[in-house]
Amino acid sequence: MGGYVPTVAVHGGAGSLAYFTNEEHRRRYLQGLVDAVKAGLEALRRGNALDAVMDAVTVMEYDGSYDAGRGSVLNIHGDVEQDAGVMFGGDMSVGAVAAVKHVVNTIKLARLVMERTDHVLIVGKGAEELAKMFNLWVPNTELINENKINRYKSLIRNLGDRYPRNRELVKELGLLGTVGAVALDRDGNLAAATSTGGTILKWPGRVGDSPIPGAGYWAENGVVAVSATGIGEYIIRSMASINVAFLIKSGLSVQEAVNEVVSRITKRFGRGNVGLLAIDARGNVASAFNTEAMGRAWSREGMDKVIVAHLPTDKFP
Ligand code: ASP
Repeated sequence: MGGYVPTVAVHGGAGSLAYFTNEEHRRRYLQGLVDAVKAGLEALRRGNALDAVMDAVTVMEYDGSYDAGRGSVLNIHGDVEQDAGVMFGGDMSVGAVAAVKHVVNTIKLARLVMERTDHVLIVGKGAEELAKMFNLWVPNTELINENKINRYKSLIRNLGDRYPRNRELVKELGLLGTVGAVALDRDGNLAAATSTGGTILKWPGRVGDSPIPGAGYWAENGVVAVSATGIGEYIIRSMASINVAFLIKSGLSVQEAVNEVVSRITKRFGRGNVGLLAIDARGNVASAFNTEAMGRAWSREGMDKVIVAHLPTDKFP
């Protein structure tokens, strides 16, 4: 084993620039991506690809600038309910949680499902119970602040009859901010992780793609690790992440594979709904999206900087 160059890539969600409250928010969002890549690379010095995606996602969950962890958006009841999933391509192990309240480090809870239970996906109350057992439970004051409540109140006031069919509203409000990471370690292991507060004003108990393996993420040694973002209902219906793996197995490069899956989704469901980040077995990084923007960053051992990109025209990788 050995001989691969440790590499990490992260994203901060695909969507429209309307997500950003001001220029400072956008600046912090992009800086957080750089910090997440650095945390991932640092983890790769002592651990494996799984440790790297965990540490990278954890940085973004704590940051507050993203729709994950502390920054998670509110659902129709004004609550935070998060989804997260992680997969290690070395043994295809998976852990995920969905519709979970009272957690900041949701990806850590997903990893606990993987390593400390015999299950793959635990939702709602059961996930919360696990959070209490492993000291990850936090009060709502860690997740909900005055800004979120004010925004929620004004959105609810103007919602009219647009709910529960609010997909267009979600796009208008600037869907963006789900976080994800993919990594390759020096032994050739691949890992992927995705964490999100989901779509704004979602129905309580709604589960998106982010905790569903094959949809919101996939990692398979020798093939690819993928993290998806966008409107979860379309991503689940397209099984976006595992389809990237299938296409690579049929001979496409990682860039061709993510382009193809995004183009299939665009043909079927229109634009403004998906973004994919992937790394192949040799450490080639690729992204594709049909939204206005997708924050993404990457670096590898030996490279002296982190490459960060936001708009479609920004150079990446
Ligand atoms: N995919 C996430 C969901 O549908 C949201 C996002 O990526 O912005 O829950």
